[in-house]
Amino acid sequence: MHNHEIMQKQYERLGICKEVYLFGSRIEESLKQRFASFDQTAEFNQMKIISAMQKNKVSAECFNASSGYGYNDLGRDTLEAVYADCFCGEDALVRPQITCGTHALALALKSNLRPGDELLSPVGKPYDTLEEVIGIRPSKGSLAEYGISYRQADLLKDGRFDYESIRRAINPKTKLVTIQRSKGYATRPTLSVGRIEELISFIKKIKPDVICMVDNCYGEFVEEKEPLEAGADMIVGSLIKNPGGGLAPAGGYIAGKKECVENAAYLLTSPGLGKEVGASLGVMQSFYQGLFLAPTVVNSALKGAVFAANIYEALGFDVLPNGSESRHDIIQSVTFHNPNAMTAFCRGIQAAAPVDSYVTPEPWAMPGYDSDVIMAAGAFVQGSSIELSADGPLKPPYAVYFQGGLTWYHAKLGILMSLQKLYEQNLVNRDLIC
Ligand SMILES: *Cc1c(COP(=O)(O)O)cnc(C)c1O
Repeated sequence: MHNHEIMQKQYERLGICKEVYLFGSRIEESLKQRFASFDQTAEFNQMKIISAMQKNKVSAECFNASSGYGYNDLGRDTLEAVYADCFCGEDALVRPQITCGTHALALALKSNLRPGDELLSPVGKPYDTLEEVIGIRPSKGSLAEYGISYRQADLLKDGRFDYESIRRAINPKTKLVTIQRSKGYATRPTLSVGRIEELISFIKKIKPDVICMVDNCYGEFVEEKEPLEAGADMIVGSLIKNPGGGLAPAGGYIAGKKECVENAAYLLTSPGLGKEVGASLGVMQSFYQGLFLAPTVVNSALKGAVFAANIYEALGFDVLPNGSESRHDIIQSVTFHNPNAMTAFCRGIQAAAPVDSYVTPEPWAMPGYDSDVIMAAGAFVQGSSIELSADGPLKPPYAVYFQGGLTWYHAKLGILMSLQKLYEQNLVNRDLIC
């Protein structure tokens, strides 16, 4: 047994005081069972990935770089087959040329919708950056500019689907339904794959040929089942989140029905060229290795999220999800109702980073967002949010969204450091800690 005191001294060297460390240890002790169940999911998903890699005969040649047009890129084509198998799709598009999650979603939407079609979100307002993609906030090149209309059915107050309103929203123009798995910057519950399955089955009963797309950002490998196994036609995500495992330096993916993926490929490159072109530029090894590591990285992030939830819940803050409920993404929100506490939290996360630990996060206007945003990240890959990071719009209710952690130990340090900053500035009830 490792001496508790030696470990405490180790944390003290990094700036965590004894009170905060011991408080964290008590919380961690209470989470053993939850952590064991996360370990089991990671083990299941690790087997899924190894099996897909073996089936598709991943070899050392797959890591070679291609340049120029990128014709006959074995690594790229094999990786797309591996993704398709992992996520139970017919095909996949996995590219460094897809610059981020928003780009992947915009690509999936634009390529599968035509003028006169309608897009429906049955789960309320989509992620902030999609507002401009769709044209909810006017923007150049939005779907609205191309004559694609949009409708939305909000969730009920208690987070349930409003089936009546969804039924009314579906009409002859409805071509594609977008379902966001993760709550993003909203304060609603994240959808489990089970709930997504119920929703899709309801929608397909009304309109069988509608395309059901799931924004899978932050959801990959959190559960044993993925949305394509729940009836979705297409899933979309970012490689600097879960499936890149922290190693992918950029990129996005779209997986699902062959036709949906083909449409996306034609828009990404060009009609007629589709998946046949697109040089892999030397990123293949990191894409493969990142996917291989993704289940354990997601496991670490989940442990961090649950640890944070339990710490801040014990201190009387609103946390979503709460400390004990089941998890369907890696995001944890903590509502501070206080801009100073929100800022202190983010500064703690920053101070715990391996990279850029000495800089101080400040609220700033970010493209795609309608208010100032504060972000904390000291990442190896710029903007990577599978790495320990925290952010949130600086507006009431001053909720911070916390996610990632390539290792559980780093996530733990980050959360303890956030608490340390709040503790030092008297922004938490000290009696609850000592
Ligand atoms: C992160 C995220 C996006 C957008 O991804 P970016 O890579 O930041 O462009 C979209 N939807 C959800 C739910 C996300 O979490």
